[in-house]
Amino acid sequence: MELNIALLHGDGIGPEIVDSAAAVLEKTASEFGHKINFTPYLIGGAAINAVGKPLPQETINGCLASDSVLLGAVGGPEWDDLPGDQRPEKALLGIREALGLYTNLRPAKLYPALRSASPLKAEIVGDGFDIMIVRELTGGIYFGDRGFREGRYGQEAYDTEAYSVTEIERIGRVAFEATMKRGKRLCSIDKANVLESSRLWRKTMHTLAEKYPEVQYSDMFVDNAAMQLVRDPKQFDVIVTSNMFGDILSDEASQITGSIGMLASASLGDGKRGMYEPIHGSAPDIAGQNKANPIATILSGAMMLRYSFGLAEEADRIEKAVNKVLEAGWRTADIIGSSERTPLTCTEMTEKIIEVL
Ligand code: NAD
Repeated sequence: MELNIALLHGDGIGPEIVDSAAAVLEKTASEFGHKINFTPYLIGGAAINAVGKPLPQETINGCLASDSVLLGAVGGPEWDDLPGDQRPEKALLGIREALGLYTNLRPAKLYPALRSASPLKAEIVGDGFDIMIVRELTGGIYFGDRGFREGRYGQEAYDTEAYSVTEIERIGRVAFEATMKRGKRLCSIDKANVLESSRLWRKTMHTLAEKYPEVQYSDMFVDNAAMQLVRDPKQFDVIVTSNMFGDILSDEASQITGSIGMLASASLGDGKRGMYEPIHGSAPDIAGQNKANPIATILSGAMMLRYSFGLAEEADRIEKAVNKVLEAGWRTADIIGSSERTPLTCTEMTEKIIEVL
């Protein structure tokens, strides 16, 4: 298979981790007889510095012409004083919109080898957990009607949560399909005891659930879900939820794995093309020092093979290689804990994974 992949390095540690993931993808492709063509495009602060805007049209065109997109991270103190609509982070919403990406898949996996990195007690995490959060990405309160008006207590600001049946159905379908490929347990999270939009969400999910009799479906209120994630994370297989609830719960879920440098994500739309990126930011505090953990971006590359190209065996190979390197005790500085070994650099960790591949 020939894979045309757009690389968006971005800022801070972005270039280091994207190059690491590209090297791992290259190695995997050669092992399985595929050919990858990588084309880099500018995004974020790097694009501001080069051409004066965070998301150049050439980048949008390049991503649209590619089969899939791998992104590092954007932003940094150098651009923090720019007005909101000119900041590097603005490019993220723009590129998601341009590519029609309405689903965010965020696995929160605690590897057995990294049990001690979790802030949760050993008896809660057991031998690790593996949750997939499916978050709606382009609807709800982040995109709803907003503004200022005269209210009961004078001037007030408002934001609106609105979801259509169409939007709920399309994210629901993605979640049910993802659940069928995993442990067949799906929990839909809402606030149907208070919000009208959540009641429609729940009703629509129930209708969909009838089409997936093999899936063990449940509902949960978001406040309870926030508690259950730290009380008993192993009860969850796949979670589906709205944009804002997903934003909050996926950060909570990533925190209980103990390492932000390990977690991948995928943003998907209707076609095969997706945008794959680590959940962390550009880590300006360690940028350019070869200290970053490349694993989140490497695992994002594995997700790309699985979800955009249907190359499950190739994706498994990368995930197993990461697991093996961790089981062997190799660590970058962010996950070293109390180990007496010297932490690996970003390049060394990448080489270890490639060696196992
Ligand atoms: P951050 O995720 O960049 O960093 C938080 C902490 O985690 C830092 O101490 C950092 O060194 C560490 N860290 C993050 N990734 C790591 C890795 N791979 N290996 C080792 N350590 C890692 O979050 P922040 O400091 O809040 O934000 C920094 C910049 O990134 C800001 O400009 C922010 O807007 C931007 N940001 C971008 C994205 C994105 O591009 N998707 C997401 C979040 C934040």
